[in-house]
Amino acid sequence: MNSRRKFLVNIGLGTIATAIIPQNSFAAIGKPKINKPIVLSTWDFGLKANEEAWKILAAGGTSLDAVEQGVRLTEADPSERSVGYGGRPDRDGIVTLDACIMDHNANIGSVAGLQNIKHPISVARAVMEKTPHVMLVGEGALQFAKEQGFPEENLLTPASEKEWKEWLKTAKYEPVVNIENHDTIGMIALDDYGNLSGACTTSGMAYKMHGRVGDSPIIGAGLYVDNEIGAATATGHGEEVIRTVGSHLVVELMRQGHSPQKACEEAVKRIIKFTENRGKSLDNIQVGFLALNKKGEYGAYCIHSGFNYAKYDGRGNELIKGQSYLKAK
Ligand code: ASP
Repeated sequence: MNSRRKFLVNIGLGTIATAIIPQNSFAAIGKPKINKPIVLSTWDFGLKANEEAWKILAAGGTSLDAVEQGVRLTEADPSERSVGYGGRPDRDGIVTLDACIMDHNANIGSVAGLQNIKHPISVARAVMEKTPHVMLVGEGALQFAKEQGFPEENLLTPASEKEWKEWLKTAKYEPVVNIENHDTIGMIALDDYGNLSGACTTSGMAYKMHGRVGDSPIIGAGLYVDNEIGAATATGHGEEVIRTVGSHLVVELMRQGHSPQKACEEAVKRIIKFTENRGKSLDNIQVGFLALNKKGEYGAYCIHSGFNYAKYDGRGNELIKGQSYLKAK
């Protein structure tokens, strides 16, 4: 058959196929079915944040807008004591926030040690979109945020201040596994266009040293997105996540063919190996990874049981218990 005739035949078949085969039966004729849109986020507060993100995804919005708007909800909630407004302060009583954002084109933006601004994730997005840089810290990040019109406000709520004053009586730095003196919202999403984005925001470890930066604003550690492969985010002891460049590791493991679940498991095992090799105990180290691939498949894994995550897709919003390396005692 000459190529012009082949072309005409193909067009003919294509037209018939589109006319009589409903969209969702493409799987039956060999086109892989993709679970999209979908949004995933860490911990219980992910449920509410997912609702916000889903509104955008369901209306045909982008994953970038969805993850930014989703985590803003958690940042603004003073009852969430590990993210944004109302977050626990450092040991000097100062609330410092860390956040980063990444889109499907590998655009990235990040802020660390940001004070007095309720929405570090939106400042991170402004760094990404309006500067030639990818990361701003401390005073410079605050100066940039103010120039961009973000209002300055006191983020230390009376409840957090009271707790900090109580803490000062002993002043021991002891992050406790799964107890809410830390936690981060990491959110990853796949939109209707098949594009992945992620956002990650936290007030970091409660009573950390002033100036301490965790994994959450570090691209590759707290968050990573590769639009060909998948996205991953992390929560827990940031020092351990940075040591393994955890989220990037999860994405690279997916690139090697692992499912999101298996990739998270392997990354957790790497942290465990590093910890043991350094002669340290796993007792007080918690890390959880959450991952999503291009097909909309997802998985999560953590060291100690207790980490959960929220998933919102066409089947609804639900809180899922993450599997763990160590089982509950
Ligand atoms: N990863 C955060 C940090 O190290 C805290 C957390 O997610 O628990 O700052």
